[in-house]
Amino acid sequence: LAKDAGKGLYRYASGEMELANKSRLEIEAKMHQALANNEFVLFYQPQTKTSEAIPGSPFGLVGVEALIRWIPEPNLIIPPGDFLPVAEESGFISPLGDWVLLQSCKDAKKWLDMGFPVQVSVNVAARQFDQGNFTERVRSTLATTGLPAELLKLEVTESGCMRNISQVTEIMCRIRELGVTFAIDDFGTGYCSLQYLHRLPVDCLKIDQSFVRSMDKKGNGADIVSAVISMARAFGLASIAEGVETFDQLEMLQTRGCEQIQGFLVSRPMHFEAFVKVLTAQKELCVQID
Ligand code: C2E
Ligand code: MG
Ligand code: MG
Ligand code: MG
Repeated sequence: LAKDAGKGLYRYASGEMELANKSRLEIEAKMHQALANNEFVLFYQPQTKTSEAIPGSPFGLVGVEALIRWIPEPNLIIPPGDFLPVAEESGFISPLGDWVLLQSCKDAKKWLDMGFPVQVSVNVAARQFDQGNFTERVRSTLATTGLPAELLKLEVTESGCMRNISQVTEIMCRIRELGVTFAIDDFGTGYCSLQYLHRLPVDCLKIDQSFVRSMDKKGNGADIVSAVISMARAFGLASIAEGVETFDQLEMLQTRGCEQIQGFLVSRPMHFEAFVKVLTAQKELCVQID
């Protein structure tokens, strides 16, 4: 049981407490109910330009990542790591993933209508590609929400890409034709060869937070980060570092030419209304500067 370091509003459940003594079948049944009862919530974490980054505020905002939480009762948050593995194993990730995609696009369309064209990054589990009609689901979600395709980015993990590389590549190509972009998530933790990286229709590499974390320690974290940034550049891809927590890490990423950052240093993931407040506050600040 841990207390949210942010506002102290929520109690974070540990898997041990909430779900561990339940069977997978019980968790699955609870997730079905939870989806029907609107107990899943998306939090949004800013992604900003490294060159403009300042701690504590999303200056140079380029987008947000949608991150799912399960809130079964007020003030209790179950993190994705506690239920997504069960969802992936049972296949529940398909309806859940559909909901995440729809809700992200609806929210991004609301920001757009408020005058804020914010690109939303949505995590896609490898299993969602097995749905058969995943391309059509993306297309129809964009159509029904009215969100322009360039405001949607999909994040696929490196290991997810490699699971069935030819099938995944084909689906990604078709979705990219719609104007949607792709990032490879947790890059550096899988086994993507340069040859595959060259063929994958992606736009961005997300440097895994384990490398960012080990950057300021002795070891090869900083070298790996430099290598990934160079590789991204060589392939014409953007680079974004995730899990940036300290000013030292930010400085090292700036020096190495990493384009974007995401992490607690700039902002924790927050719910829709809190993010709208951030957008509005920034706009007022910009008007004052102009
Ligand atoms: P991810 O996609 O790599 O997301 C980044 C994770 O790092 C998030 O954890 C985020 O809250 C956390 N994070 C961001 N900045 C920092 C930081 O500065 N320090 C630290 N320590 N952590 C930071 P979260 O929200 O618990 O999500 C964990 C994973 O669950 C995600 O990793 C993603 O793989 C998966 N996930 C989350 N939401 C979804 C979803 O809607 N669909 C799918 N398929 N997977 C999701
Ligand atoms: Mg992600
Ligand atoms: Mg990641
Ligand atoms: Mg990760």
